[in-house]
Amino acid sequence: MAQILAPCTQWQMRITKSSTSACPMTAKMWNSLLFRQNKKGAIAKSAKFRVLAVKSENSTINRVEDLLNLDITPFTDKIIAEYIWIGGSGIDLRSKSRTISKPVEHPSELPKWNYDGSSTGQAPGEDSEVILYPQAIFRDPFRGGPYTDLTKLVHYSNFVMKVICDTYTPQGEPIPTNKRHKAAEIFRNPKVIAEVPWYGIEQEYTLLQTDVNWPLGWPVGGYPGPQGPYYCGAGADKSFGRDISDAHYKACLYAGINISGTNGEVMPGQWEYQVGPSVGIEAGDHIWGSRYILERITEQAGVVLSLDPKPIEGDWNGAGCHTNFSTKSMREDGGFEVIKKSILNLALRHKDHISAYGEGNERRLTGKHETASIDSFSWGVANRGCSIRVGRETEKQGKGYLEDRRPASNMDPYVVTSLLAETTLLWEPTLEAEALAAQKLALKV
Ligand code: ADP
Ligand code: MN
Ligand code: MN
Ligand code: MN
Repeated sequence: MAQILAPCTQWQMRITKSSTSACPMTAKMWNSLLFRQNKKGAIAKSAKFRVLAVKSENSTINRVEDLLNLDITPFTDKIIAEYIWIGGSGIDLRSKSRTISKPVEHPSELPKWNYDGSSTGQAPGEDSEVILYPQAIFRDPFRGGPYTDLTKLVHYSNFVMKVICDTYTPQGEPIPTNKRHKAAEIFRNPKVIAEVPWYGIEQEYTLLQTDVNWPLGWPVGGYPGPQGPYYCGAGADKSFGRDISDAHYKACLYAGINISGTNGEVMPGQWEYQVGPSVGIEAGDHIWGSRYILERITEQAGVVLSLDPKPIEGDWNGAGCHTNFSTKSMREDGGFEVIKKSILNLALRHKDHISAYGEGNERRLTGKHETASIDSFSWGVANRGCSIRVGRETEKQGKGYLEDRRPASNMDPYVVTSLLAETTLLWEPTLEAEALAAQKLALKV
């Protein structure tokens, strides 16, 4: 973790302006080697040629770090793009990088690419090519150079970026793990577009020590004290992995991901961040982008990321991906009535939703640890033991949003967000089924 706490702040050499005269490099080239601070004012003050030579612990210059931080923009128009896609398990993320000849502003300007699907469990060896279609771009916080203006996505996409892709056969058919394709179709439906669906996704995750597969901060082969002091806690005996959560928070903001908050969780070593509210397909793109960043940060920190819904059996909270959802009608006056009607639809399609809400969710949705049982549907105001929770504020205002507490931490956000839209905006129950469910759930519609 120390690596991510010390982002190149030790300068080994200071070079004065005059020392550049003997050098064949131009002033522009030199400037590119300077480490610039974020604020314009700060640049002027600290422009004493702080060269990116980082002193490592044993006092040798860390030349690899130098090269990683090298600003290549004065020397080439080319950019590095990291193409990211979902692998064969439906949850693993894969990526590879390529040079793009000139800056682009939109994913549609990027070339399609391909990879060996037989190595990711997505294609047979004899016909192994899977085609990547670029769908969303973010700034790359890992290859990001010493830039000063972090506000313009377009500007930064000119240098390095992460590209979220979905996956197709060479004939142009989406492969089975490409859940984005169908989701995008649902989000293109005029009825769905008209309702501007918002999603706020609470991604929980668990950090594990490498090799032992046991949570961060837990004694190997043993257990910490019972749950209670850890949720939103501070202190070396209560909070484990905050650097990772914080590094991820900033990296997501840098990338242009709509991250809205973080918190330490009930189980020690478990964390949450929220993304949203985001509209339509963007929620899925941003969750996948944020998961990729988290994989990379935990990789650097030597910690293993787990999205298992119940990493530790027993009296320990599982990890979910609560999905807060609203439509335009829910957010307007009279919205609570629309929310109730949506809850009826959700009740009637409970099984379909559960089967799409993540692998192993039955180990988590036990009816204990702030969950509802997987077998029955329930809803309630401010009740964290329900399938669907409506906030007090929504009840009071008569409008707002609902929280679907069922999705597991390893759910596919393309599936969950599009299914919520489909069930509440496109699907219609029979009148009999609706009446029966309304009676059972004490819901008048
Ligand atoms: P909890 O109280 O369940 O822990 P959080 O604060 O962690 O809730 O997450 C709530 C999420 O819901 C946030 O991402 C927030 O942006 C999002 N949200 C807020 N209002 C709406 C809305 N009207 N529709 C959808 N999502 C919303
Ligand atoms: Mn939360
Ligand atoms: Mn939580
Ligand atoms: Mn929640």
